[in-house]
Amino acid sequence: MSDLNKLTIAGARDALAKGETTAVELTEACISAIDASGALNAFVHNTPDMAREMAAAADARIKAGNAAPMTGIPVGVKDLFCVKGVPSQSASRILEGFLPQYESTVTQNLWDQGAVMLGKLNQDEFGMGSSTENSVYGATVNPWKLGDGVERTAGGSSGGSAAAVAADLCLGATATDTGGSIRQPAAFTGTVGLRPTYGRVSRWGVIAYASSLDQAGPITKTVRDAAIMLGAMASVDAKDSTSADRPVPDYEAALTGDIRGKKIGIPREYRIDGLSDEIDRLWNRTAEMLRDAGAEVVDISLPHAKYALPAYYVIAPAEASSNLARYDGVRYGRRAKLGAGDGVVEMYEKTRAEGFGPEVQRRVMIGTYVLSAGFYDAYYNRARKVRALIKRDFDQAYASGVDAILAPTTPSAAFPLGSANKGNPVEMYLNDVFTVTLNLAGLPGISVPMGLDRQGMPLGMQLIGRPWDEGGLLNLAQSLETAAGFTAKPARWW
Ligand code: GLN
Repeated sequence: MSDLNKLTIAGARDALAKGETTAVELTEACISAIDASGALNAFVHNTPDMAREMAAAADARIKAGNAAPMTGIPVGVKDLFCVKGVPSQSASRILEGFLPQYESTVTQNLWDQGAVMLGKLNQDEFGMGSSTENSVYGATVNPWKLGDGVERTAGGSSGGSAAAVAADLCLGATATDTGGSIRQPAAFTGTVGLRPTYGRVSRWGVIAYASSLDQAGPITKTVRDAAIMLGAMASVDAKDSTSADRPVPDYEAALTGDIRGKKIGIPREYRIDGLSDEIDRLWNRTAEMLRDAGAEVVDISLPHAKYALPAYYVIAPAEASSNLARYDGVRYGRRAKLGAGDGVVEMYEKTRAEGFGPEVQRRVMIGTYVLSAGFYDAYYNRARKVRALIKRDFDQAYASGVDAILAPTTPSAAFPLGSANKGNPVEMYLNDVFTVTLNLAGLPGISVPMGLDRQGMPLGMQLIGRPWDEGGLLNLAQSLETAAGFTAKPARWW
């Protein structure tokens, strides 16, 4: 078989089972693809020796007849997942030199199934950003390039994961979504991105951004692959007290193709000013596809959705400022060079000043401010109240019988690189207008590639599900995937 790196997870699993290929061959194909992909800057720490060893073990397991769904499947891992002995920096200078002594539960679950570790993937520093430009490794470039030659973002913060999957450097990738970082990069690269219900996947060993919002999930080439990979990543975990004590269902079995009678809500408040007419039309066409497949499409109202972005940009920095307090030059990673008269305070200050990038420093300052005694009620407490109202909006929609909510993933297609440093950080925050709402409510969501825009860049649509209904959500998403028939791939230029 040739071009093994271009296989889907399901395709590779079947080929492995039939003996048409081996995990070693699959892995070598991915390693070659990664070696030739430097211009994308998607992989930032490669682990070829580990990959070859794991692939050989996977082949032995397949031969012995006890393969799991992910056995022998080469994957990439977002930098913020701790992988024992492998640099895990969350794309921050402050974690330079940090080699975890322990393994995140998500990656351990994947290795337990026999998946193969190819390396670490680029991201925004600590997950803060929407373009993978806030990274100590430099920006990831979107594999989709137009005739204009302009380099575009692969989205963020999981831009490395999305670019790697879109460019066939790996068969699937782990990612995290605090305010959209799985779904937005998936939409920008023509891939599938699934953010599970809060608590479905363990956060243990995942370098924290905002603990009440963070959740890991897969970025894959197809909806079926997302089902397979989520099944491997999810678990009940005593090491994460917010991990839900619920059995992990067989998500692939939920892909029945039958969505008749499902009720899909279109939130009125998502029809914002400035939404491109192309995305608006795509939204209507997608609703039409669901109707043609036998679903009922209804208008719904999420009256507090318009406050989601400001509430998110108070709560996320507040939690981040607390989570990031542990990086002080004592316990992990890098310590600044100190001068003769420097004491412990100077060590903290110098280490944090040179270790954190500008966006992270901004968030720490905003977070500290909104949590300070004088402003706590005015900002943080108010944002928490808004969060409760946003959650109630969703509860009411689902109580009225809605099974899922349909909205665009992003207000535009991937934008040119360089936008992060234009001086107005709020412009970047506006990218998250459609994604952050569900994080505040703890809900699952998936972005499905639906087509190309006039210029030829991918566009995604998002489905938001009921809590714990990843199976139903994946089934709806697959019906859209089938109806849209999106098979385009980026032309290889790197
Ligand atoms: N872009 C959002 C932020 O910067 C979301 C990031 C994420 O989901 N990790 O906070």
